[in-house]
This record gives sequence, structure tokens and C-alpha cells, in this order.
Amino acid sequence: VSAVEVATAHLDRIEAVESRVNAFLHVDREGALAAAARVDSGEITGPLAGVPIAVKDVVTTKGIPTTAASKILEGWKPPYDATIVERLKAAGMPILGKTNMDEFAMGSSTEYSAYGPTNNPWDLGRIPGGSGGGSAAALAAYEAPLAIGTDTGGSIRQPGAVTGTVGAKPTYGGTSRYGLIAFSSSLDTPGPCGRTVEDTALLHAVIAGHDPRDSTSIAQPVPDVVAAARQGLRGDLTGVKLGIVKEFAGDGSEPGVLAAFQESLEALVKLGAEIVEVSCPHFQYALPAYYLIAPSEASSNLARFDGVRYGLRSGDDGSRSLEEVMSLTREAGFGPEVKRRIIIGTYALSSGYYDAYYGQAQKVRTLITRDFQAAFEKVDVLVSPTTPFVAFPFGSRTGDPYQMYLADLFTIPTNLYGGPAISVPCGLSEGLPVGFQIMAPTMADDRMYRVAGALE
Ligand code: GLN
Repeated sequence: VSAVEVATAHLDRIEAVESRVNAFLHVDREGALAAAARVDSGEITGPLAGVPIAVKDVVTTKGIPTTAASKILEGWKPPYDATIVERLKAAGMPILGKTNMDEFAMGSSTEYSAYGPTNNPWDLGRIPGGSGGGSAAALAAYEAPLAIGTDTGGSIRQPGAVTGTVGAKPTYGGTSRYGLIAFSSSLDTPGPCGRTVEDTALLHAVIAGHDPRDSTSIAQPVPDVVAAARQGLRGDLTGVKLGIVKEFAGDGSEPGVLAAFQESLEALVKLGAEIVEVSCPHFQYALPAYYLIAPSEASSNLARFDGVRYGLRSGDDGSRSLEEVMSLTREAGFGPEVKRRIIIGTYALSSGYYDAYYGQAQKVRTLITRDFQAAFEKVDVLVSPTTPFVAFPFGSRTGDPYQMYLADLFTIPTNLYGGPAISVPCGLSEGLPVGFQIMAPTMADDRMYRVAGALE
């Protein structure tokens, strides 16, 4: 088949199911078909040339609307491409469109999108995870074969888990942040989403690697994740040590989630892996530390949305001061969760409170990093369920922010440390997908792909 035929098939599928799924905020039929035609003409070759892709709307795409699912960026067309988008284009991957998400990537259910939620293709009355619910749902509904997500606190892995798809958070600094709309700069990590481990690894290899335009980008060669995934698929894990985190036990995971996880663990042991219990005593403080650090950085990053430079401007009728227009714009442009984060972050950073909140959280972050380092002296990877619960019904956690934050219990420690982690489907609980998480040391992304491949 030609690349144009493949792109057309996906665009038609999008047209057929979008009224039920709502995974996309914008579809770029013309752009995708033009990119596919360039592959068919032989202009671009490579392993993923002609494979269409969906991109989370927090990633800038030149000339294509990019809103981060916020009203404040409605109608904004970026004048440049993110580095990872440049790499997708160079690899000949037609961009189908931009996917729905929680506003500014803040959330775990995509219910905080200003453009309405995405529905989980497994059960349209349930959430597809978040913040990258659109990317995950697009994969699960066969609207796209591959997608891009961003993971600040689990937003690639958690949607992957609850939609039965694969999502990988690369090592922080392993993929460029240039052109991401910044949420929490010390945590934000773009990464690949796919339906299989090998597909995900192939996309990982396309987008990863040093970028001089991102000051925290790592100037080291990218580990061969594709070879590692293929090695894993051959099903031999002899000598691989899997660490189970003692402190994760009894953390309120649903019994069906634990059962699916346990069963997969046993399957890995049959392939030669060894299970070792490790202690990570500071993981219990990861959630509170994250929910200070991420909002603090967000409150600083979101200051740029002032009604002057981008998108929305409210109340500018000539009678008001700059400050009044700024305030009215933010009032109208930001949703409730974003406002909550800005207020928490501003408070945590204010003089007098800085040491007690932000400073304390940074110390916890160091202790969590040490927990990981100590664990990786004993084991090759750490494993856990990706999320404590399966996809929940709409509205069941929006009333209490803490209930929503609990979705990130198992994903957040990795973000604070900066290492890579992947979620792989591992069976069902009450008919809904469960995710298996594999966490590896920084710059050992290949290690998690090997175990992930074996699990598949
Ligand atoms: N649930 C996390 C949050 O709301 C996820 C963030 C993310 O990874 N983008 O902050």
C-alpha cells in the first residue's frame, strides 16, 4: 500500500469515530496527505516513513493550531515546530492532527480539557486517562498507529494503562523539550505512544537524542531501544532482576489490578527473571512533593499568558488598564484546575513560604532520587502497576482534587528522579485494561524496553 492510502485510511477512520471518541482537537487532512505524497515520491525513506502520527496539543506544530486544550490559546498557530515535530517530519511521518488533553497537561482524565473530554474507546462512559487521553484514545480506537505524548507526572503512562496501549516516558533530557508548551520544566518529558512495544521503540528512536536548543537535553548517544525491544520479544529474561517496591504494597490498588500485575510478574519469572523486594522509603512523599514542585514551576511558566502575546484577550475596550485586561483574560482563559495550580504554586514560591514548601519538596526529590539509585544497585528495573485503578467513570474524581491526584501514585516517583519508565498492557480487570509499569535507571531506556518486549 502507498503512504497516501495509509494516511487516507486513518483520516477516514477518524471521520467515522470522532463523534464518539473526541480524541482530536484538530485534524490536518491536507497536511497529512501532502506529507504522505512526499514519501510515495521517494523523497523520504526510513523505517517509519509513511506511518501517520497524532501529536498531543501541547507540542507546537508550525501553522497548525496548538492550544494545550486551553481557551487562552484558542486560535494560536505557532510560527515554528517543536524539535520532536521536526524529527517526525524528517522521518516522513504524516501528522494526522492534534490530540485532546487536560488543559496545559494538568490532570489525569482529560476531563479538564476546555474542549470537552475524550471518551475511552473501551467504555465511552469512562475516562481515557490524562493528561494525554487524546493520544491514547486515538491509538485504542485505531485512529492513529502511533502518537506523541508528554509525561510530567505520568501523562503518557497512565492514559496508556487505562486504554490498553503502550506509553513510554524517556529519560528526562533524552527527548527535547524545545517547542513544548512548558508546564513543569524540570519534569516535562515528551515521549512515544503505540499499540505495541516494538512500534513504541521505533518512534522513541526517531524523536530521542541531543538538541542544543534545550539546555537540559543530554549530549549522549541514545541507547538502542529498538534492539532491546526485539531482544525482549524473543522471550528470554535470564538473569534480569525485577525490583518490587515494598512501600507500594497496600497502597489501595484495586484487587483486579493487583491480580493482573501479579499474573504478569509470574509470566516474567517463567522467562528467567528474578524478583527482589526493595525498599524505597521516600516514595510515600512523592505525591505531595510533586504537587508542590509541578504547580510552582507552572505558576512561573504560565505567567507568559497575559493576553498580550498569544491567543485570547478579554475586556480590551480601551477603558481598562493593562492589569485589568490581563486579569480578565486569565479569568476567562484558564480553567479551574489551572487556576488551582497557579494559586498553589504562587503560594509555595512566595517569600516566607519558599523554604517550608518548595525548598522542602526539592529535598524530598533528592531523597527519592537516592532511593532509586540504591534500588538500582540491587536490581535492573523496578516494576509496579502503572495505576492503582482502571479507567473510572466521568465525574467520579473531579469533585475532589486529591482523588484525581491519586491516579499518579505509581508514576510520579520516576518523574522526580528523571529516569525512564514504560507502561505495557497486562490483562484486564472487570473488562478494562490494566497497565504494567517498568522503571529503569537514567539513560538505560533500553533496559525497560527489553522487559516490556518480554511481557508482550
Ligand atoms: N496528573 C498529573 C498532573 O496533573 C500529570 C501531569 C502530566 O504528566 N502532564 O499534574
